Amino acid sequence: MVNKVSLWMKIAYAVLFLFTLLSVLEMTRSDFGLGQNQRLFAAENPEVQKKNIFAERKDLLEEFALVSKIPWYELAAIDQYERSLISAKKKGTAQPQGLIAIQIPEAVWAGPLNPDQADTNPMSIAWFGGIGKDGSGDGKADRSNDLDLLQTMVSKITKSGNRDTDRQIGLWAYYQNTRSVQRIKQFSEIYKNLEKLDLFEHAFPLPLSADYSYRSTWGAKRGWGGFRTHEGTDLFARYGVPVRSTCYGIVELIGWNNFGGWRVGIRDLTNTYHYYAHLSGFAKNLKQGDIVKPGQTVGWVGSSGYGKPGTSGKFPPHLHYGLYRDTGLNEWSFNPYPYLKNWEREEQKNRTKSAPSA
Ligand SMILES: [Zn+2]
Repeated sequence: MVNKVSLWMKIAYAVLFLFTLLSVLEMTRSDFGLGQNQRLFAAENPEVQKKNIFAERKDLLEEFALVSKIPWYELAAIDQYERSLISAKKKGTAQPQGLIAIQIPEAVWAGPLNPDQADTNPMSIAWFGGIGKDGSGDGKADRSNDLDLLQTMVSKITKSGNRDTDRQIGLWAYYQNTRSVQRIKQFSEIYKNLEKLDLFEHAFPLPLSADYSYRSTWGAKRGWGGFRTHEGTDLFARYGVPVRSTCYGIVELIGWNNFGGWRVGIRDLTNTYHYYAHLSGFAKNLKQGDIVKPGQTVGWVGSSGYGKPGTSGKFPPHLHYGLYRDTGLNEWSFNPYPYLKNWEREEQKNRTKSAPSA
């Protein structure tokens, strides 16, 4: 009897010991393991966290591209266009929960007459004319699931087929807006060309080594070169100082305008239009549709404009730099001055950081 009890005690101790050992092992693995450590670091460091999000999103898009037979950069372009719509709206707009920013209203997802507007059943959603689809394969069509959102979007844009032109028509039918289709095409070109999602760095439009001066002239009665209300910042510099792209983007427009002279317009991935005017000339071979990087020379400071093509010298040489945001329906200009100050400061900081410490 005594022996029997001590045997049970031994077994109980052995089990307890094993449990303790296992949980210590588990703790060590999860708290101090490399993967977890990196995640902890990322949580404290927004820069790293952001980079991880770009990498995770690209993985997700590439996986889904294999399934849907649609290039990842096109899916990325739709996702980024939707993200730009969210940030263009007023503060307080719901931010996407997952990696994908596609936003589909409840009534469109579930069907306008669906009594259960939060319906996730693909069968009843389809029956009520909703567009929500199950892309994750869990049997649910969930508006907050990345794969379900992608699947739903893909089923809309491939309604009449999966050739390039079919998808163009599908996008038009979905957004009912030529500008949306153009933006998605532009974003798609940027991603295809640069092969990554992390494309939000900026550069100051003039080399910091050049002689230049600028101040906040936003809303001044008139600036130089015929802008009635001054929508931009004038950066004064000598003829021929390089004018550089401030962002990753695509050349949307290039050529002569009677006010702006030789000017170039570059669209970035936040759907912001960067406008450079009064140039003395453009970088060789630069044309509409070209992809540019921050710091890349696009032209040179001049005094062109305020007359017929080729007019020059009606005001001191300077770069007129303007910023315009597109909300999908309208476009408005905003003050570039604080951005310029910020980019200039960032570049100064990086310059001193990378300078040899001798
Ligand atoms: Zn100006």
